[in-house]
Amino acid sequence: MIPTFIVVNAGSSSLKFQVFEQPDGAEARLVWKGLYEGLGGASHFLVRDPSGAKLDETTWSAEDGVGHEEALMHLVSWLSQYREERKLIAIGHRVVHGGETFSGPVLVDETILQTLETLIPLAPLHQPHNLEPIKIVRRRLPGMPQVACFDTGFHQDQSSLVTMFALPREMRERGVRRYGFHGLSYDYIASVLKDYDHGLAEGRVIAAHLGNGASLCALKGGVSVATTMGFSALDGLPMGTRCGALDAGVVFYMLREMKLSLENAERLLYTKSGLLGVSGLSNDMRTLRANAAANADARNAIDLFVYRITREIGSLVAALGGIDGLVFTAGIGENDAATRAEVIAALGWAGLALDEAANASGGPRISSGSGPTAWVIPTNEELVIARQTWSVLGAAQDKLAS
Ligand code: AMP
Repeated sequence: MIPTFIVVNAGSSSLKFQVFEQPDGAEARLVWKGLYEGLGGASHFLVRDPSGAKLDETTWSAEDGVGHEEALMHLVSWLSQYREERKLIAIGHRVVHGGETFSGPVLVDETILQTLETLIPLAPLHQPHNLEPIKIVRRRLPGMPQVACFDTGFHQDQSSLVTMFALPREMRERGVRRYGFHGLSYDYIASVLKDYDHGLAEGRVIAAHLGNGASLCALKGGVSVATTMGFSALDGLPMGTRCGALDAGVVFYMLREMKLSLENAERLLYTKSGLLGVSGLSNDMRTLRANAAANADARNAIDLFVYRITREIGSLVAALGGIDGLVFTAGIGENDAATRAEVIAALGWAGLALDEAANASGGPRISSGSGPTAWVIPTNEELVIARQTWSVLGAAQDKLAS
């Protein structure tokens, strides 16, 4: 029997999954990947093999009422066709917030689940969706080991100075501090730096996770020393639909002068701002690039995105005391050569120089000259969840055996 486990990344109406197997003593190996989308309405299931070839798909109408519970049970039943050769041994979950309690992955039991629920106010738009599948599995597959892997965990070694807001001490005691996110992505990047350039793994590196969510992380010797996201996933860079860093006075203005309800103000900042808000067109960089020549608002959205990235890089260079390498990752970072070129062009002062041909072909090294190097490194958050799930299971088994 091949030990097999599922990695789950649940959103409000979607459930992305990857299925891994764990050969003895080796790296977790991807077997299948797929997603359920449109949950709660007309829904769609699609599964592919690691090469991207489609293996299976199913469509449900809105009347079928497929939600997260039906999707998870469908996935388990889909996997059961391989029960002669595979044993489902665990489920690993992406959980956005581990708060101050969890600096690393954890085997979930009732007490831990309750603690994770107390963190919902820190990430009200993401945490409930991440916890829902954990609760479903506890109910429907009792005894199935589940591991929670946190987006905040990788940043937990940052010093208290780095994570502090200039707010009264009671606020800090309530957990109001900078946490940082995209930790699973940065964990992956830190783990592979040595495969690209040995010196980088030891050096001062800024990783730019530029996707629909976007942030930067300053790594020293592979450890997070500062990041642009703070208390919530709203801070730092402008994103697809999120505003990024914002003067808190704007929020008071929205509430007092514009008379927005709290819910509408929150919705505006999370879902109507960023690239979408500035362009009035789209949150997708491909659409903005295609329209930038003719549409000034699309061009503005891109220019603001690039300007904010370069300013925040300047801040992180100061935090690191210099820079040896810059890594681009996630949807925009991996695919949009123009964004990479514009960012590097603005960083000449730091000694970065673009290798245009390498950038056009996607790298991995896209810098020239003897200054700091620049790289394109595809991220793999699911593999980090798989690694963490396996290591927590191993530790739990060792504990039982001793
Ligand atoms: P992610 O959240 O990492 O999946 O990234 C999603 C974003 O990546 C999309 O919203 C697009 O803006 C961007 N993206 C994906 N592919 C491309 C591409 N070929 N060129 C430019 N941007 C892209």
